[in-house]
Amino acid sequence: MKKNCLLKKMAITAVLTALCFSVYAQEQKEYPKQEPMRPAMSEYWTPQPKVVTPGTATGNAFLSAPSDAIVLFDGKDLSEWESPKDGSPAQWNVHDGVVTVNKKAGDIQTKRKFENFQLHIEWMIPANITGTGQVRGNSGVYMQGKYEVQVLDSYKSETYVNGQAGSIYKQTPPLANAMRKPGEWNVYDIIYSAPVFKEDGTYRIPPTITVIQNGIVLQNHTTILGTTEYIGFPKVEKHGAGPILLQSHGDPSEPISFRNIWIREL
Ligand code: MG
Repeated sequence: MKKNCLLKKMAITAVLTALCFSVYAQEQKEYPKQEPMRPAMSEYWTPQPKVVTPGTATGNAFLSAPSDAIVLFDGKDLSEWESPKDGSPAQWNVHDGVVTVNKKAGDIQTKRKFENFQLHIEWMIPANITGTGQVRGNSGVYMQGKYEVQVLDSYKSETYVNGQAGSIYKQTPPLANAMRKPGEWNVYDIIYSAPVFKEDGTYRIPPTITVIQNGIVLQNHTTILGTTEYIGFPKVEKHGAGPILLQSHGDPSEPISFRNIWIREL
């Protein structure tokens, strides 16, 4: 019995010693450090989407909201909108039936929150726009406050393709470049399905989106991978119903305008 006991003790000591050496060896081993993410790491430039010229809009007319839509902006006021910072009234400039971004005031978002919807929104890059690439009429429409469909002047103006107008920002480029030129109205019709989450906060069903610009499909039931980050990869963050958010981008180019915004819950 004593001999057995001694053997057991020796075996345990040997195992513990081996473990200690193994932990020590692991602590000593050096692995390559991951390079910090920079914006350009999630931007790519080719292939550029083909240019498709939209059909002509007649005059300045637009399609008014259907009978069952919630009108988010009818040209009169921003009563449906607020500042995401503190819920105070939205401070963008309403004039001539349109609303123009007020860069000092920051983003605005709807007071209402949505899940699945059809959204109609019109936007115009001013005729006197200046700047290039991402600093040329940059704004954005965010689904549930988290997933940006890019708004930008991409009319004869190139940038990384997963950041041009109609891209799911830093994720999926549009299937076409359907831009009207500065000074003319562009129309987005967006069909969005909200994600369903597992208990651990990951997607059971990821969000999906279809985007049509000026009658041309840019995103065809595209899977959204997560939040649309400027730097780094998409993040998956559990959330419920969320607002439509319009971006006030910090670039110094002339502010863009929106009009005729309505939504139908699905
Ligand atoms: Mg943007």
